[in-house]
Amino acid sequence: MAPAPGLKVNLSSPNPRSRIGKKAVILPLKIVDHIMLNDPSKEAENEPIEVRCYFVRERNALLVRGDFSPLYTDYYLHLMQHGIKHERAQDDLLKDGLAALTLHLSSRPRNEAAAWTLSWQDPLQNLFVTGSNRSGNVVGRVFTEDVRERDTNLFIAQVMVAGQESRQSMIKAETLDMFKVAEAFYHQSEQRPGRYFRHSEEDFVMVSAQPDCDLAWLEALDDEGIRAIDEAEMLSLLETRVFRFDCGCSPGRIFPIIAGMTEEALEVVFGEGEVLAAGCPRCAARYVITRESLEAFKRERASS
Ligand SMILES: [Zn+2]
Repeated sequence: MAPAPGLKVNLSSPNPRSRIGKKAVILPLKIVDHIMLNDPSKEAENEPIEVRCYFVRERNALLVRGDFSPLYTDYYLHLMQHGIKHERAQDDLLKDGLAALTLHLSSRPRNEAAAWTLSWQDPLQNLFVTGSNRSGNVVGRVFTEDVRERDTNLFIAQVMVAGQESRQSMIKAETLDMFKVAEAFYHQSEQRPGRYFRHSEEDFVMVSAQPDCDLAWLEALDDEGIRAIDEAEMLSLLETRVFRFDCGCSPGRIFPIIAGMTEEALEVVFGEGEVLAAGCPRCAARYVITRESLEAFKRERASS
């Protein structure tokens, strides 16, 4: 994605990270969310995955299924592009989180967006995933620095419906497994069962109860049952939804946020240096911004 005209965002200078601290200034989620949720990226080139939504007749359940391989490929490209490194366990957790949220969103009305945070104490980390049915995107990151310590592990779910105040619910998280945590969320917050299954390594299924669901059947379902469900049950295809791994952040969108900071705040983030790294709170992308390019942006904006 090309920066907006007049911007000299120095993303390709020789090894810019050697000149700035390892730590990026994380931009406020509220501000970034406001831009990304209300004006989704039109330039997304990432490959979409299809999630198929079926009604399981006579069992009264909704079954959604997606193969996440293309989405995971774009996720890894994103990690490479921004020099983000995860431990294996964090990587697995984030990939499961992206899949769990995507399947959840596919089961929800088309005007909903959601954000899930798993606040985990040992090892201390926050997993954040967010996505929107309106823009057909999901994205996420792991926070390991400046993470707030709590007495207990928590899972926090936010729902954003177009034109309404966002709603939040919170449950205790018992295990570092996003599918199990999402199942507990269904049980406690949604007050109906929702179950996740691994059809194969990157192909997942979620089945959630609808009114008058055959709950005994749903509780007894296992991975084997899911693989044979085509033969065992009558599935009616309701719709197909499309999701991409895409945040929507870009140099052209991050720049105005930085330029909008007060002089005092800018002094703090630049410190003695000439360069700062701004971190996206949604996807951990890092944008390298020099004092010079920021001044040029402000002049350009003032004269246009
Ligand atoms: Zn981002």
